[in-house]
Amino acid sequence: MNGVRAEETRETSRAEFFNEYWKRSSLCGEVGDGLVGTDVRVNGWVRRRRDLGGIIFIELWDYAGPVQVVFNPASGPEGEGGDVHARAGDLRSEYCIAVRGKVTKRPEGTENPALKTGFVEIVAEDFLLLAPSEPLPFEVGEGTDRVDENLRLTYRYLDLRRERMQYNLRTRSRLYSFTRNYLTENGFIEIETPMLTKATPEGARDYLVPSRVNPGTFYALPQSPQLFKQILMVGGFDRYFQIVRCFRDEDLRADRQPEFTQVDLEMSYVTEEDVMTLIEGYMKGLFREILNVDVPTPFLRMKYWDAMDLYGSDKPDTRIPIKLLDLAPVYESASFEAFRRVLEDGGVVRALPFPGGASLSRREISEIEEKAKKLGASGLAAFQFRDGEVKGPLVKFMSGEELRRLGEISGLGDGDALFVIADASRLKACTILGTLRLELAKARGLIAEAAWEFLWVTHFPLFEWDDEENRWSAVHHPFTSPVLEQVPLMEKEPGQVLARAYDCVLNGNEVGGGSIRIHDPKVQAGAFACLGIDAEEARRRFGFFLDALSYGTPPHGGIALGVDRLTMLLCGGHSIRDVMAFPKTQKAQCLLSRAPDPVEHARLDELRIKCIPVEEETR
Ligand code: ASP
Repeated sequence: MNGVRAEETRETSRAEFFNEYWKRSSLCGEVGDGLVGTDVRVNGWVRRRRDLGGIIFIELWDYAGPVQVVFNPASGPEGEGGDVHARAGDLRSEYCIAVRGKVTKRPEGTENPALKTGFVEIVAEDFLLLAPSEPLPFEVGEGTDRVDENLRLTYRYLDLRRERMQYNLRTRSRLYSFTRNYLTENGFIEIETPMLTKATPEGARDYLVPSRVNPGTFYALPQSPQLFKQILMVGGFDRYFQIVRCFRDEDLRADRQPEFTQVDLEMSYVTEEDVMTLIEGYMKGLFREILNVDVPTPFLRMKYWDAMDLYGSDKPDTRIPIKLLDLAPVYESASFEAFRRVLEDGGVVRALPFPGGASLSRREISEIEEKAKKLGASGLAAFQFRDGEVKGPLVKFMSGEELRRLGEISGLGDGDALFVIADASRLKACTILGTLRLELAKARGLIAEAAWEFLWVTHFPLFEWDDEENRWSAVHHPFTSPVLEQVPLMEKEPGQVLARAYDCVLNGNEVGGGSIRIHDPKVQAGAFACLGIDAEEARRRFGFFLDALSYGTPPHGGIALGVDRLTMLLCGGHSIRDVMAFPKTQKAQCLLSRAPDPVEHARLDELRIKCIPVEEETR
């Protein structure tokens, strides 16, 4: 008993001692000119130590930035400086220390105008070692970007200490604050929806969680709160939002994460315009708040097929000044039979103009052809406009008049190039040319990098044919409303029906997507039927939702914004992993905590789960 008390007393006095003598009076990064001549205390990490002629300089960092601390054997009260100086010689990178000292002006010629603290230094009187650090797996600082990412993810806490990551995550937090303020001011309320729930289809696999108390049954982690947010509209909340984690078990493509964050919202009694106007106001405010940039509103609106025809993408990057062309007028009555036939059979001949492309070498052209083939093109025809003539393998098959029209329609002239694809599928031809457009523009620096170009893509098809599954699937999700006039078409010609959906695109990135929803249970049942979900399956999977829809559901719609991508763009980054504190790898692993992990048999028994052993090499 006594022992415990003694321990407590010692702890308390230590804490008091720290508070009284060592607790920071200023942040390192904020020790500015105004503090010259004063005594300060700072707490932080040692970074970069230099010993110059017996004087030791360290950069001491906290989240606000660095300050220079000087240990001089000649300074310090009554010669104590020497002792402090000797101890400072043992300081190593990332040791956590508290320093007490006087702020002085840096000697002339040693200032660093790039830093807020660049005109001063702290002449240390004493320091306290709060915690030493093990030798570092990598140096924390500007060069950390170049360190292997897996090593950075393993020691994420060190990676997070550097300025860039601090900036990114603090920007993310500002986005959260702005979001909450903006939406609250616009009448939204924040409601949490369950994480342990039933499957919500958004086109991916579910992460499943076994239920111990209901053996043999599983929850799904939400792919999105879609069904719950719609039910909140049935429940009378009118305007809901949530900054919410979503989970999708996908084979991870380059910049996807198994768990990611959305600003998710839903509104009653609205049309497409209401949702889009709300989001335009949000983006305008957000960009002003974070970057002090004025983004013009309203955003450009573009129909899905216009986006595909002109940019070969449903998330066009309009910062690239190149649009695809329809060459049907050149080839529909042309002597060149191969292209004419494709058109006669209902296909397309589309082209990617490439200003400046006449200088591409034969090898570069064949690399582009190879790329097109890899993307699924049966061929790619190149034309180059050089010395007042058109060159290319197809030129000999075309009449002078046809070549003239090619130049006229493309608006190209000497110095340029044109890449042409003929294909039975308009979607395929456009998509391949769209991919080449992006790659060529990136390689040739044709993207206006400083611009912020928002737009809405609308009039998506409601369904698309899934060759693998041999059935229709939802382009967005099964709860998206068809254009009302087209409801009767759903059964007969599902491929023709347009959706009341909208995607928000920024600089070629989809940063959000949403729709007006089906609010009539009969139409919803019809949509399920189109997707090959029969009445019985619909009842089993979505019965609760169909029931809810049948109790006076207001017309409603909403959207979800991708927080990770949006923050990445705001921070000028290239990977969403850099704006997430603890992201996972492409194999969906957390290198820091080493998840996922095998579990003990006893735990599995409790859940009544048996694992099929996996060969070691396939793990
Ligand atoms: N639930 C949709 C998604 O996650 C967004 C929406 O339709 O509001 O993409």
